[in-house]
Amino acid sequence: MTTTSSCESCGMPIESGRYCDYCTDDAGALQSFDDRFASMAAWQARRDPAASENDIEQQVLDYMATMPAWRDHPRVQAR
Ligand SMILES: [Zn+2]
Repeated sequence: MTTTSSCESCGMPIESGRYCDYCTDDAGALQSFDDRFASMAAWQARRDPAASENDIEQQVLDYMATMPAWRDHPRVQAR
């Protein structure tokens, strides 16, 4: 039996810890908001190529608002 939880930064299923490998740096610390935002925006832009840059930004901020790691971040609060 493995206990699965989800990354508190991006929601990806993980086996242990709070964050997945994509959301942490080499030392295992959570990456900065700007780094995660840029990665998620690039990922979202691939999923939804027709969306404008502004739409992508809004979608990513809406998604981050559901993540425990980011929902209190000023950029998310200000969206
Ligand atoms: Zn993650």
